[in-house]
Amino acid sequence: MPDVRIKTPNLDEIFEKWKQRSIRKDKKKMEKQFGTKGAVFSLDAVSAAEYVKDTQKEAAIYFAIKKTVGAVPKGTEEKTVLAPKITRETFYSFKGKSKVNKDDWKGDDKVPTFETIQSVSCQNCSGKGYIESKCKTCKATGKIEEKLSVLIGEDQKKEDKPFSYPCGVCYGTGTSKEQCRDCGGHKNMYKYQILPVPFKTVVTGIPVLHSSAQTKYEKEIERDLHQMIEDVEGIRFNDFKDLESKAEPSLGYWNKNIKKTISAAGSDYKTYSKDKEAQITTQIYLFPMIQMFCETKKGTKFEIYSLGSANKFMIYSNF
Ligand SMILES: [Zn+2]
Ligand SMILES: [Zn+2]
Repeated sequence: MPDVRIKTPNLDEIFEKWKQRSIRKDKKKMEKQFGTKGAVFSLDAVSAAEYVKDTQKEAAIYFAIKKTVGAVPKGTEEKTVLAPKITRETFYSFKGKSKVNKDDWKGDDKVPTFETIQSVSCQNCSGKGYIESKCKTCKATGKIEEKLSVLIGEDQKKEDKPFSYPCGVCYGTGTSKEQCRDCGGHKNMYKYQILPVPFKTVVTGIPVLHSSAQTKYEKEIERDLHQMIEDVEGIRFNDFKDLESKAEPSLGYWNKNIKKTISAAGSDYKTYSKDKEAQITTQIYLFPMIQMFCETKKGTKFEIYSLGSANKFMIYSNF
């Protein structure tokens, strides 16, 4: 791109535009602030030469971005709990439901999701719910061996006869079952995922303006530029580095604030470029900006700002 000096609008043009707008907006106020008692009010008599006390040449940088709002929070979390605990958790389900409007959503961005509940066989007991071990009572024989005293015959000679009966601890099996401590006897553990709520993604256009003039109108200008960018002429750049190197020759003037503003806009631009949810949708515009410090005949101070080139510019004022 060749270096093109942009022509700034001259003060009379800016002042004229402001005058025409102000008279349309509030004629009485104009008459009160600029008129002479007893004389017929004439707009022609209100001149920049008389009422503009000082001017300052500034600059503004503008670009627009698209940002995805309500993007899916990343990552999933998994929890594994004992069976009775699953009913103590609050689960959510979005199956077959439409996406959620983030602004209306009351709750966390990530929630336990009903459809993800899964049983996991307990590793400790291999899903049996119990641990088998040799019965200590019968020493794994399944029988309790005892002696039974029998008195034999007339002389009642005492004789011990072996007598066995099934073990009451292991029910005669020789093995005892102990409830598994890991799963509490429920055979399974239950796992579920804490998943992002399926929010609607809304893409919004956001204007970004940086101006070296310390104006209260930055937000207003930003919004207007977003709507009427074609009606204001600036120098367009595809690359911020390009803007940085050509800003001064393009504007034809320079000051500390402009330098600072460009650097701030540059870091902003860089941040948006790196933001995965943002997308820069326009070229970068550099606008000449003229700040006019004025005073009415009555002594009321006000300011007029112009943004754009001599061909196409817009104005703002606190009058
Ligand atoms: Zn036993
Ligand atoms: Zn177990």
